[in-house]
Amino acid sequence: MTQLNKAAMQHNLHPFSNNQELIDKGVRVIERGEGIYIYDTDGNKIIDGMSGLWCTNIGYGRTELSDVAKAQMDKLAYYNTFFQTSNTAVIALANKLAEVTPSQYNHVFFTGSGSESCDSMIRLVRHYWRSVGKPQKKILIGRWNGYHGSTIGGTSMGGMKSMHEQGDLPIANITHIEQPAYYELHEAGETPEAFGLKAANWLEEKILEVGADNVAAFVAEPIQGAGGVIIPPSTYWPRIQEICRQYDVLIVSDEVICGFGRTGNWFGFETFGFEPDIFTFAKGVTSGYQPLGGVMLSDRVAAGVLQGGELQHGFTYSGHPVTSAVALKNLEILQEEQIVERVRDDIAPYFQQRWQETFAPFAHADDVRGCGMIASFKVVKAKGEPFSDPARAGSLCKDIFFGNNLIFRSTVDNIICAPPLVITKAEIDEMLALAAKSLAEFEQNVVPTLLA
Ligand code: PMP
Repeated sequence: MTQLNKAAMQHNLHPFSNNQELIDKGVRVIERGEGIYIYDTDGNKIIDGMSGLWCTNIGYGRTELSDVAKAQMDKLAYYNTFFQTSNTAVIALANKLAEVTPSQYNHVFFTGSGSESCDSMIRLVRHYWRSVGKPQKKILIGRWNGYHGSTIGGTSMGGMKSMHEQGDLPIANITHIEQPAYYELHEAGETPEAFGLKAANWLEEKILEVGADNVAAFVAEPIQGAGGVIIPPSTYWPRIQEICRQYDVLIVSDEVICGFGRTGNWFGFETFGFEPDIFTFAKGVTSGYQPLGGVMLSDRVAAGVLQGGELQHGFTYSGHPVTSAVALKNLEILQEEQIVERVRDDIAPYFQQRWQETFAPFAHADDVRGCGMIASFKVVKAKGEPFSDPARAGSLCKDIFFGNNLIFRSTVDNIICAPPLVITKAEIDEMLALAAKSLAEFEQNVVPTLLA
């Protein structure tokens, strides 16, 4: 282990990392990035098949973003949006967001991250219902295995039981339904379409159980990302929308991963055919170049919130001028280079086709699936048969990829890829050739020990 390796772990408490594993395996210290590649301090060139944490949508090394950050810092490094002030950068960014979103979204509350966005969303939802005279509508319904961040509100809204256990969560008036995970939960002979309707109807059952008059919102990711790339059947979201309208429950789409082009439209809700009342975002809004998030309100919700008096909520960095300037430039790049259209019409269809061709033939790969620039497969004992310890298999498989200088992620037995949206076809071929080589190594060297 190098000096830097030891130093990395000495004082820094690493998020979502097993301490013993860090000590045993060390860390890779990433020094620079260019396009889809990152480079570590040992001189390795690594393909970043995860866009960092699903965020570097326009790839690394775009100096247009550092140029605007420097220019904005030189001009005005900080000012806030409290107490009758604003700044030119945040005004321009809010205008741009109103422009790139469908016409009914015209108000945004800015935060510094996805987690802060989800916490702010909970507060805005409850504030909305109080403002329109229905204060008893307090309960938010999320999904088991959903992820909405690591703050108290975000963790509560999410459905990660291991996170709940560590934090004595969820907070009051948050409850969960089962996820639309076809592979794991469907019954023999059930089509994806029939399963999608059944899974959506679990929401209706929950609303009736707790009383529609008490339910404020349903909160979900269009595709569950951190939970293992759970892509709902096409029938799911339209039925969810129908149920929410019937019982006057707000729909909140967590667009932190799906937003800004990842699924081939600007937002995941456009891909899945529904219209949320509120959506949260972060990550892709700046392509990860600066920490920024937000909550976007439909006109209906904005009107309710605005009639409710002074908003007793805000962060020092809500509407930070430097992060706002960087986000604006990032959105301009997405527009000028037609990156979202390119994902939809060209690069995502190619990526998905190559993903299927690469992994479907492997004996120990199953549930090979994807949407836009997100894709996944499961490592399995045999097709239709999971390993007895799926988390161990997934983690060992991901380690082989990592050792071959390819970053994919594992969640239980799901191997996940979400590369920068600017990846070329040649780079997809290079990435998948390395992935196939890595999976073959896993099959040859690791599977026999897992089956022993
Ligand atoms: N919501 C979703 C859907 C996410 O995927 C994440 C982060 N992976 C968050 C919220 C939290 O975002 P952050 O890490 O920026 O707080």
